[in-house]
Formats: sequence, structure tokens, C-alpha cells
Amino acid sequence: MSAESIKVLKPGRTERSRWMQLPRDVVIGHDALAHVPAVCSDLRLGRSALVVTGTHTRDLAGKRIAGDLAESFKVSTFVAETISLDVIREAEKAAQDADFLIGVGGGRVIDTAKIVSYNLDRQFISVPTAASHDGIASARASVPMEQGSSSLAAHPPIGIVADTGIIAMAPHRLTAAGCADIISNYTACLDWELANRLKGELVSDYAIALSRMTAELLMKNARNIKPHAEDSAWIVIKALVSSGVAMSIAGSSRPGSGGEHKFGHALERLAPGKALHGEACGIGTIISMYLHGGNWKEIRDALRFIGAPTTPCDLGIPDDVAVEALMMAKDIRPERFTIIDMGITRESAEHLIRMLYED
Ligand SMILES: [Zn+2]
Repeated sequence: MSAESIKVLKPGRTERSRWMQLPRDVVIGHDALAHVPAVCSDLRLGRSALVVTGTHTRDLAGKRIAGDLAESFKVSTFVAETISLDVIREAEKAAQDADFLIGVGGGRVIDTAKIVSYNLDRQFISVPTAASHDGIASARASVPMEQGSSSLAAHPPIGIVADTGIIAMAPHRLTAAGCADIISNYTACLDWELANRLKGELVSDYAIALSRMTAELLMKNARNIKPHAEDSAWIVIKALVSSGVAMSIAGSSRPGSGGEHKFGHALERLAPGKALHGEACGIGTIISMYLHGGNWKEIRDALRFIGAPTTPCDLGIPDDVAVEALMMAKDIRPERFTIIDMGITRESAEHLIRMLYED
């Protein structure tokens, strides 16, 4: 059985203590943007805000948020056109006089705000404009490095404001990728349990239960996920927040990131710009579920219903690149033990990729 200590003790009291840092205000709904000033006041974060947006999300939501906040706060803005170490440094300069940050946009913008707030020890509020991955509510941020992207530790947002009207307008490809990121919780949890049985790695039963339940709820609703429907945006964004909370309870990304993510990261590295994070991990989930002996066809069919890719071909990636990614996956975050680390040969990798095309 897993040994678990979820008592929050003062740092340094004992190594067995575990910190859970959770978002405090979460507002999800139609025209939720109108609540941003109230959330900032409620959290008592200070008087000056830096609103970080992308070029598109500035017009979509950033300007309105900055305008609404200007009535009671000192507001400055920063446009992060992309995410890189240079942009993070520039954003840090822009944030020098800000008491807190608001990240308004997709994954890259939220991650930039998250890292800057962590580096400068300021709070940040996450305002996702798409439901594309669970980083909108989690403590981890992904940053591009020379050798592909790297996952960095940061703080989870203190507040999340998710406007379902705006999220529903985002390209369906982003929402489908978010769904795939949630479905990957299944195999991430199986991998964590495997690491517990094989390596004695500590697991959090609460984090696993929440993560699994979130994936189950999404699978149940797979047929109701429709492009540009606000009801669908509700389902997906709630699940993404819930996945982020599961990771906060775990104190690591374990309940949301296993072997399927290692494969996904490898694929993103070998075929840069082809797959969205969730898309790559979704394909990894089918493979990983097959290896775990679970119902991999059910996973694949749900992804198909939702409109997420299920083969390298769907992503315009040659099969031999996907084979390479599967072989390389064990070298991504090697300390994270998963079923992908149990000895995939070229022959087995070729078989696994061929299997994705089965009916
Ligand atoms: Zn993910």
C-alpha cells in the first residue's frame, strides 16, 4: 500500500510533509472576464497588475481586462509573441513594478506569466482563452530549450478565470487537444502505480482518484464535445482545472503525465511544430494503454469522436519518426519510470505504431 502524508507542516519539520498549493478563486462561466477585477480585489494581491497576453489574445480579452482593471488598479501590459528565455527575461523587466501578474491566452502566454511570477515571487492569475492543456491550472510550465521543450517547476495560479464564451470560440483543434491531455491521466496514473509496485515510488491515492475520475467524466462526455459549443467548453475547462488540482495534490505532474507524455515530448522534439502537446500525448495514451493491457480501443475511439488525431499520419508525421520517438521516450525525464521504460525495441516500436492504424 502507498504510504501517504498529506499533513501540511511547516517547512523543515519533517521530510514526510507534503505541500499542496492550490488555486484559491476559480471562476468558470459565460462572460467570466467581467469577474477579473473582483477576483483581483478578493485575493488582495496589491494595487498594480501586469497583464501578459499574446498578440491575438490582447484583442480577444487582454484589452478588456486591462480596461476593466484600470478603474481600481495600476495596469501595465506585456505582449509575449512567443515563449523563449529572452521573452521571459523581458517580461520579468516589465513585471518589476507589478504586485501580481495576469496571464491571458493559450499555453505559451500562461506559461510565461507562470514562470515570471515564480521567478519574481509574485502571484499570478490564469485567464485561459483556449482549453488546450492542463497547464492552465497546474504548477508546471513548459519552456522551449535548445533540446526541445523542458518542464519547469513553478507555482500554480492563485486564481483562474475561464470565460466559456471565449474558450468556445477557440479553434476546435485546441479543445480536442485539451481533451486528449485529460484522457492521458488514465495511463499516467497506471504508470505511477506501476512505479509504486516496481520501484516503491510513493503515490497519492487522492491525486490518483481525482485524476482518474476527471478522465472518466470526460470519456463519458466524449460524444457531447462539439466544436464551438459553450457547453463543451465548460466540460473541458472544468476537467483541465480538476487535472491541475490533482497535480497540485500530488505535488508533481505524476497523475497527469506518464509514459504517454514522454512519447509526446519525444514526438514534439523530432517533429517540431507538427503536433499540439495534447495531440502528441493522446497518441501516446493509446500506445501506453495497449502496453498496460487496458482498453486502448476505447481510448482511441473517444479521441476520434472528439476529433483528436490518433495516428502519426493524422498529424502529417511519418511513421518512422513516430517509431523513433517511441524508442527515444525512455530518455525523456529518465527518472520518471513508466511502462515505456520497460524495454521497447525497434521491432516492438514498429508494431505499436502499426497497431494505431487498426480498425
Ligand atoms: Zn499534458
